[in-house]
Amino acid sequence: MSRFWSPFVKDLVPYVPGEQPKLNRLVKLNTNENPYGPSPKALAAMAAELNDDLRLYPDPNSDRLKQAVADHYGVETAQVFVGNGSDEVLAHIFHGLLQHDAPLLFPDISYSFYPVYCGLYGIAYEQVPLDEQFQIRIADYAKPNGGIIFPNPNAPTGCLLPLDAVEALLTAHPDSLVVVDEAYIDFGGDSAIALVSRFDNLLVTQTLSKSRSLAGLRVGLAVGHPDLIEALERIKNSFNSYPLDRAAIAGASAAFDDREYFDATRQKVIDSREHLAAQLEAKGFEVLPSAANFIFVRHPQQDAAELAARLREHGVIVRHFKQARIAQFLRITVGTPEMNQALLDALV
Ligand SMILES: *Cc1c(COP(=O)(O)O)cnc(C)c1O
Repeated sequence: MSRFWSPFVKDLVPYVPGEQPKLNRLVKLNTNENPYGPSPKALAAMAAELNDDLRLYPDPNSDRLKQAVADHYGVETAQVFVGNGSDEVLAHIFHGLLQHDAPLLFPDISYSFYPVYCGLYGIAYEQVPLDEQFQIRIADYAKPNGGIIFPNPNAPTGCLLPLDAVEALLTAHPDSLVVVDEAYIDFGGDSAIALVSRFDNLLVTQTLSKSRSLAGLRVGLAVGHPDLIEALERIKNSFNSYPLDRAAIAGASAAFDDREYFDATRQKVIDSREHLAAQLEAKGFEVLPSAANFIFVRHPQQDAAELAARLREHGVIVRHFKQARIAQFLRITVGTPEMNQALLDALV
């Protein structure tokens, strides 16, 4: 702390990301990255951008990328916002669309960045407990609120709220903005983007970090009614005119265009998830049903923190959250079959 800090900074509680170890030998199953590389077409498109044109600013509106997203989902470009990772998109959403008198609602077990943004922007919030099976129960959200946000599938549980339940929630809260954070939807659910043209109170966010394997590029997006998108554009253009660089616009667009690679790699992850879940159940673990690229597991006899420490000694890192209700769970990212086998071997 120093006397130069703006007063509110001393009370900020920042998000703590999963470890990015400097050691290469580790089997990294802790931050839900995709074990397969990005689309070769995305890599080629980015390489083609690395030339003298980098002296020029990128397109401030990322039109090429908005068009690729719009084409992929069958929406209008005016319904699409893009940003520097979905974390930045979420920050703009909290800032521009979720600052109201009534508290923002989100699950008690959820993406731990949400309370951080509430702290940054001074937003009151209320956490709504998941039910005993760690599922979102939409009836529990029937209370005064200034908006509702949740990941779907939820993080870190991996559990999916089916699309008809999302629709029921939107219908029950016509005067609340409902933000569905679909960071993992491509691994097992139907996107609520199918509903944006019918619900002006729906905003869906997605990221290229997981299913498109571009966590290092930092690209995320939101899809919703043009009036919601306009609020985000206002914030963005009051904050950073060029959140996406030339390589990011080209690479992300090419990744959206390459549907074949996308489908092939996400299917491999889904198949590995089912295999890994079955193997862990055979070893006595309880595995929550996952629609994501990770699984959330606990062992009835083994302490989660000790398990995580033991795995680390074997060179395998997973995520453990020291948090009420889930302190005995581990979140394990689905890797390649070889990585998953290394995890299973370390558990003997
Ligand atoms: C990974 C993740 C994000 C952030 O994605 P980036 O685009 O990499 O910033 C957002 N929400 C949830 C629930 C995530 O797990």
